[in-house]
Amino acid sequence: MSHRTSSSSAVNASWLDIAGGVEPLDGVDLDAVLVTRIERANLAMQPRINFYTPTFKSYVTSELAGCGKSAWPAVSITGGECALACDHCKAKILEPMIPAPTPEALWRVVNEQMAQGAQGMLLTGGSNHRNEVEYDAYYPVVRRIKDAFPAFRIALHTALVDERIAGCMADAGIDAAMMDVIGAQDTIAQVYHLKRSVADFERSLECLTATSMKVVPHIVIGLHYGRLLGEWEALEIVARHQPAALVLVVVMPFYAPAQRPFVTPDARQVGRFFLDARRRLPHTPLLLGCARPAGRIKAEIDSYAVMAGLNGIAHPADGVVELAVRLGRDVRVTPACCSIAVGDEVMALEQDAGIRVDLRDLIAAERARPRATGKLAGIPIVAS
Ligand code: SF4
Repeated sequence: MSHRTSSSSAVNASWLDIAGGVEPLDGVDLDAVLVTRIERANLAMQPRINFYTPTFKSYVTSELAGCGKSAWPAVSITGGECALACDHCKAKILEPMIPAPTPEALWRVVNEQMAQGAQGMLLTGGSNHRNEVEYDAYYPVVRRIKDAFPAFRIALHTALVDERIAGCMADAGIDAAMMDVIGAQDTIAQVYHLKRSVADFERSLECLTATSMKVVPHIVIGLHYGRLLGEWEALEIVARHQPAALVLVVVMPFYAPAQRPFVTPDARQVGRFFLDARRRLPHTPLLLGCARPAGRIKAEIDSYAVMAGLNGIAHPADGVVELAVRLGRDVRVTPACCSIAVGDEVMALEQDAGIRVDLRDLIAAERARPRATGKLAGIPIVAS
């Protein structure tokens, strides 16, 4: 990886030194051994990185003005109901979503949301006791939506499926299919309270990738009460089925019951997993979704993500865009908050058609913020 810094000393600096020179990362405790290991892994095959963030919306063009939460609403066909009540979620993730408890309601919601500028939606719902979301009654209305509004993108949280269900989803016109891949039986049984097997998760992914849908599995790092357990097996499953992209998120167990507490995952372990994922899937877009713990640990996790060559990061911590520039990554910024959640970035990566923001503008905006004044001075910018 080449360094496009202007000073020759910076060219020869270690990544740890470069990170140490990024002021907003002050006090962030990166593991020297891990950083050196990632640097030496020579992951130069991924020069480009895209940050998805609403932070830089101040200079959005009229073309981008529609970006924001209402552009990608999340809609639940069960409202806030979920029979599984997993230990890390307890169905709370569904509560703020727009309910569409009938197919007719879904049609109405989509029309209302489009009138308010929605470009697509994440369609989801609570699971039954087999970790299936019962979409059967909705496929005709999804087809009707896609026929009436072909440009309206629909990303579907599929949960577990079989061949028939995957075919129904594809025939209905779903653009992106998303599912969590779990690689440890203990996690399935204990965290999800589920009598399904790791093989069921793999079979579901296999059925989805056999269709025309863009399939974007997620791996939740630290899902086993904050510890990493089945993540590497999940990675192997994903590698066997070559989806359009892989989204990594870090568990945020806001709703964990007191008797089953989650620990905060160790940032170094998360960083090691990023490196392993990058090596295992050198040609698959790897994206860090917005779910991850806040605070200093987020800056550590994001720094490792940039170093390990992930292709996209939602809501980067302060200083991480600068770190990417200083490490020589070809940096793009998409001023949107929800595109990873709905799979839009997958289309953008493939077509190279993501919304581009002039990096000089971005830096001007960064300089305008008191904390970031002068931060990127002296760095030649590639604003392609
Ligand atoms: S199945 Fe999904 S929505 Fe239901 S509790 Fe588990 S994580 Fe939350």
